[in-house]
Amino acid sequence: MAKKSRQPQPTPPAVVQLMTMPGTRVQFWAVGECPYCEARHYHPAGGPLADPLERLGEVASPCGNGPYVLTLPPRPARKKGKRGQRRDRWDERLGEPDDADW
Ligand SMILES: [Zn+2]
Repeated sequence: MAKKSRQPQPTPPAVVQLMTMPGTRVQFWAVGECPYCEARHYHPAGGPLADPLERLGEVASPCGNGPYVLTLPPRPARKKGKRGQRRDRWDERLGEPDDADW
C-alpha cells in the first residue's frame, strides 16, 4: 500500500469575537487577524435564534487563501497563586464528569 502523504497541514486557528451589527440583531463572528492575510474578516453567526457557537469551526477564509478554524479567544489566566477554597470547590464541580454513574 502506498504511504499516505504526510499529515495534512493543520488548519490554522483564527480567533474570533462575537459581534452584533449595530441597530440589528444580526450577529457575526469577527476574525481579529486572518492567519493568512492578517486582515479582519467577518462570518455570519446565524440569526437571533441560532446558536452562534454552531458556526465555529473550519471555514474558508473570505480572502481565498485557505481554510481556518474559527476559535474562541483563550480565557484570561486565572490567578492561582493563593489557595482559594471557594475556587477549589468550584473547580471540583466543573471537573466532575456528568456521566460518572454510567
Ligand atoms: Zn484573510
